[in-house]
Amino acid sequence: MKKEVQLTVVGKVFKPNKRKISALNRCLEEYFKLVNWYLSFNSTSKTFLHRNGYEKAKQLFNLNTALIQTARDKAVEILKSFNEKRKKVKSEKPKLKRISIRFDKRCYSFAKTTNVLTPYWLTLSLNRRTRISLPIKFGKRQQEIIEEALQGKWQFCTVEMVKRNGKWYAHFVLKKEVELIDEPETVIGIDLGEWNVATAVAVSKQIPKPTRGQFWSGAKIRYIRGKYSHIRRSLQRKKRIDLIRRIGRKEGRIVNQILHTIAKDVVEYAKQFPKPIIVMEKLKNIRENMNGSAKLNRRLHAWSFRKLQTYIEYKANLEGISVVYINPKNSSKRCHRCGHVTRKVDDREFRCPKCGLRYNRDLNAAINLAHALTRGMGWGSREPPELPHEALAVKAGGTGEALPLRAG
Ligand SMILES: [Zn+2]
Repeated sequence: MKKEVQLTVVGKVFKPNKRKISALNRCLEEYFKLVNWYLSFNSTSKTFLHRNGYEKAKQLFNLNTALIQTARDKAVEILKSFNEKRKKVKSEKPKLKRISIRFDKRCYSFAKTTNVLTPYWLTLSLNRRTRISLPIKFGKRQQEIIEEALQGKWQFCTVEMVKRNGKWYAHFVLKKEVELIDEPETVIGIDLGEWNVATAVAVSKQIPKPTRGQFWSGAKIRYIRGKYSHIRRSLQRKKRIDLIRRIGRKEGRIVNQILHTIAKDVVEYAKQFPKPIIVMEKLKNIRENMNGSAKLNRRLHAWSFRKLQTYIEYKANLEGISVVYINPKNSSKRCHRCGHVTRKVDDREFRCPKCGLRYNRDLNAAINLAHALTRGMGWGSREPPELPHEALAVKAGGTGEALPLRAG
């Protein structure tokens, strides 16, 4: 099965000269007006907008014709998402605060040169007369991917020119077609949580017992969250809103980096098994038993979990591994051995009142996720695993060590 993987690589416009920047700023103003103008038609039909707006727009706005079309597409996207949200927000019209300029293949080119400042140059056609070339700098990770793209491993799609705090950034949208593994032989169940950010277990088609569980501790992220919420509180007292925002972004970057590393590890874990497929929980049910105070952090956690799932899916797909999301009822409350559903799981350890199973709580949930998929794939009933080693529940808080599932 083939799948298209998409990715955005961000580069910074590096030491641009004033003439180029003012041309870009003028273009942004014009583009902003144009998107607003298209929005005033109040239509989500591209054909309608093209028929009734395109020729007029060419006369009214000094922009490349390709930009006139991407502005129309943007207006349609904005209106569509506004219409979806309108049920919740009481507002007549979408109010546009800022916009980025979308260049497609007809109006941009990107090349590697021998220039000493930076080898990467992005050339943009703004209108009939103006063409500018901008030096672009990338961070280490981003540069690796852009190099791959220049070698033809990725396909260049659009470039979004984004202005943030007076500085310009180029967001390159890249895509690639990957061949995903057919007929998987190992199901990797991954449970996401707070104590352990991720808990993985493998269930193979040949060997019925789940094997080699692995934990990725949430201690690091908890530490970062705690540290920054402490700083935030003290800044709030001093009313330093600007600083609060800045450290918020810094916190986000640090947590992001941790999530990337975990995602990479999880995919490495999956790769050690024959023909893996990853299964995770559909997010809205991720935290079934949450108390009142935990709700405050809900949005923050939901954000991290969603990101982690996206990173895992993206990295897995690049390795040909499919990722599926299922919605099993009570994956954390169900005993994976006898199927009994307990009312509450408070502890780090899952205790089954019916069959007496005592098991690491996250591992139990991961096995339930994996089993939900193996049942769906008709692998037959999986033999229940033997009880884990006693030390397991204690070790579970450690950082990412592999723990064998042996009989106790
Ligand atoms: Zn049980």
